[in-house]
Amino acid sequence: ATAIVWFRRDLRLADNPALRAALEAGYAVVPVYVHAPEEEAPWSPGAASHTWLHRSLQSLQQDLEALGSRLVIRRGNSLDELDRLATETEAEALFWNRLYEPAVIARDTRVKEHFRHRGLLAESHNAALLIEPWTIATGAGEPYRVFTPFWRNAVQRIDAQLATPAPTRLPAVSQAVSSLSVDDLGLAPTRDWDTTFWEHWRPGEAGAQELLDVFIDGAARGYKDQRNFPDRTGSSKLSPHLHFGEISPRQILQRLRAENWPVKYEIDINHYISELGWREFSHHLLFHYPKTSNENLSPKFASFRWADPDPEKLAAWQRGRTGIPIVDAGMRELWATGWMHNRVRMIVASVLCKNLRYHWLHGANWFWDTLVDADLANNTQGWQWTAGTGADAAPYFRIFNPVTQSERFDGQGTYIRRWVPELARMPVPALFAPWEHAELARELAPAYPTQPFVDLKASREAALGALSASR
Ligand code: FAD
Repeated sequence: ATAIVWFRRDLRLADNPALRAALEAGYAVVPVYVHAPEEEAPWSPGAASHTWLHRSLQSLQQDLEALGSRLVIRRGNSLDELDRLATETEAEALFWNRLYEPAVIARDTRVKEHFRHRGLLAESHNAALLIEPWTIATGAGEPYRVFTPFWRNAVQRIDAQLATPAPTRLPAVSQAVSSLSVDDLGLAPTRDWDTTFWEHWRPGEAGAQELLDVFIDGAARGYKDQRNFPDRTGSSKLSPHLHFGEISPRQILQRLRAENWPVKYEIDINHYISELGWREFSHHLLFHYPKTSNENLSPKFASFRWADPDPEKLAAWQRGRTGIPIVDAGMRELWATGWMHNRVRMIVASVLCKNLRYHWLHGANWFWDTLVDADLANNTQGWQWTAGTGADAAPYFRIFNPVTQSERFDGQGTYIRRWVPELARMPVPALFAPWEHAELARELAPAYPTQPFVDLKASREAALGALSASR
């Protein structure tokens, strides 16, 4: 008997519960990917997600072929395509791994109902989370809104099942089953904007495992402190691989726990695992508060007066021409690599939501289009946290000062100089606030804006004023 395994954001063969369940039940597996981005509206994947997906699908295709199978690629309405494929292959079952965005849950529920109505087995599994959102609640039976108690409870309940290895052989898929090629999906950008990405990344399962090895041998040691400094590789950079399910959090956790760590690194490993916990928490929040991808979680901001964005200022922020060096470095890192350091994400977001007082959705939308790790749960939580509108958020009145942040976390200015070559000759500390050193800047950085696009001090006062006016 045949079963369809529907690949979505679980683009790996090891520790893939849906694939494993189909094989263990004795089915001949037909792996399929259906391209239907509009079904995720209003958060259809952006350009950076698509260019990553292009390469990740190529990688999965190769891995499946190496095992004697192949990836069937279709485009259109997921339900119709799966239904048609089930008829063509006389499949008796459909297996997939769950996702947690509201639009995807609604779509998957329709698919499940349709297949069951047809008399087929339709079965979903957990491949993406250590703790699924509905399996944990506060003492009062409510969803969590604060990270620390959430994680304290969650760590004790993490599924201890061992991550499984990839199958060593898969049944061939009949040549009669038609498929598009990955290139037919038109995922690669039409302009050459992503050419600089690929010196930084290797999409796919093998690339993810390689990066985990690099992390364990390197940045994991000292992670707790080093993760804050954007001038070095202080974190794992596994976020796009996790988003596309090229690696599972369970695989990461088990690898980390299997390692024989010197005692001095235990604090780092635990801290890293708690960052995976933030990813779990974000998914918990989005599942229980599905409107928060577009609306504030905190009701306190109902009457807050956000400013109407000035298109020129928004464009300057997007492309790293704000005149604030750390912000420009971050936004250019994002444009050139599809990723930005976490600390800098917080700084650029704070400038947008607090100094400019633009609604966080303006920033979330840009990140959505340009991040290779764009993830609705993490992005929503990251923006709401920084804007102060989220659960367990940094309060709105705590406004990052980009200049002191640069001094603390990019003390030598290495990160700023790497991404903003116009400032390469500026010495520290003038580099952090060139407008305060006008003469030097005119001489050493003539191509850089002479003034920041917003007065940091005055805008800070205005933001605090707007906050008290809304209370
Ligand atoms: P590491 O430090 O190595 O952490 C390991 C993993 O833990 C990450 O890969 C990620 O999956 C998870 N993680 C770490 N920090 C967080 C966090 N604060 N929230 C949720 N998960 C976390 N992360 C995304 O994956 N996608 C996004 O779209 C996204 N948007 C963000 C927007 C803003 C405004 C902010 C402030 C943060 C955002 N983050 C997002 C969270 C965080 O910046 C990235 O997960 C992290 O920088 C990825 O780098 P890394 O893999 O080296 O992280």
